[in-house]
Amino acid sequence: MKIFCIGRNYAAHARELQNEVPSDPLIFMKPKNALLQKDEPFYYPDFTRNLQYECELVIQMCKNGKYIDKKYAYRYYDKIGLGIDFTARDVQLRLKNAGHPWELAKAFDQSAVLGEMLSISEMEAEAPFTFRLEKNGEIVQQGDAANMIFSVDEIVAYISKFFTLNIGDLIYTGTPAGVGAVQIGDQLEGYLEKKKMFTVEIK
Ligand code: ZN
Repeated sequence: MKIFCIGRNYAAHARELQNEVPSDPLIFMKPKNALLQKDEPFYYPDFTRNLQYECELVIQMCKNGKYIDKKYAYRYYDKIGLGIDFTARDVQLRLKNAGHPWELAKAFDQSAVLGEMLSISEMEAEAPFTFRLEKNGEIVQQGDAANMIFSVDEIVAYISKFFTLNIGDLIYTGTPAGVGAVQIGDQLEGYLEKKKMFTVEIK
């Protein structure tokens, strides 16, 4: 199983980190060990002083494919959920400034929180979906898939030019504005439409 992530897929978030809005999707990956399943505690890593949440819509592939046409991309995924792309922002800044890859800042153990996955065909609301993240009961991020720079179908088509997508692969589709730091003791809760998808305690 592979985990793909998209960077800078919402213009307002690209701006908040003073990044340019990309002309192609920005892709990076996390290993399987990065997964933190729903409702497991997260342990604050000792290599960062600025751990930040990025709440993102996640889709899951239901069919193997390579060179998938954007027109047919919807046939290749059938589940949607919500997750967090945890980022050690201080480490990422150091790596970015040095022109190095991001793995140490983004692909560490537990860095991919994954909530419940729902069947898209059984969703009550119609796509594009809205979501939000609450920290200690306060809304810190609100997202609307309609504001994505690259749609899910465009992302699937783009990734599949480089990598075979397999059943079960996950794609984190990028975070909206409002990213911020967490401290030990914080509680994060993610909602897709009206449904709570995960709770994470920072320990
Ligand atoms: Zn992200």
